Amino acid sequence: MNDDIQKKNPVYSKTDSTKVNLIEEEWKQILPEDVYYVARMKGTERPWTSKFEDFFETGTYYCAACGNPLFISDTKFESGCGWPSFYKPVNDKSIIYSPDHSHGMKRTEVQCGRCEAHLGHVFDDGPAPTGLRYCINGVVLDFEKAKDANKKFEENKKE
Ligand SMILES: [Zn+2]
Repeated sequence: MNDDIQKKNPVYSKTDSTKVNLIEEEWKQILPEDVYYVARMKGTERPWTSKFEDFFETGTYYCAACGNPLFISDTKFESGCGWPSFYKPVNDKSIIYSPDHSHGMKRTEVQCGRCEAHLGHVFDDGPAPTGLRYCINGVVLDFEKAKDANKKFEENKKE
């Protein structure tokens, strides 16, 4: 992750699952402008602009606002929609869902389960096994490459 973010953001943690409740003014101070715009103002990044759109390293994607684990690279797929897409979150604490009827559409908004950052939307046209497509703004994702130990673990499982 970006070191600047970590220094400025006291709630960022990949291990603490306590819910984060900050007022908007506090978020504004600790988040970079582009992250704040998507996470707190429910903005949408332009399609095809995310560095994670065409990116298939092995590792874990965390919430860029609070560090909550959201998705693992195994569940990422090429959706062609212009935003990083996944078919399953890490666990049931990763995501919260709410109906979104803005822009005259019926969609389901997905937010970070820890800090309620807006992440994107989930659609039901994804691949097996879930049939879901989590369409996520890359700017609110923070990627960490799998450590060697994890890789070995995965390799052992396959044998
Ligand atoms: Zn979060």
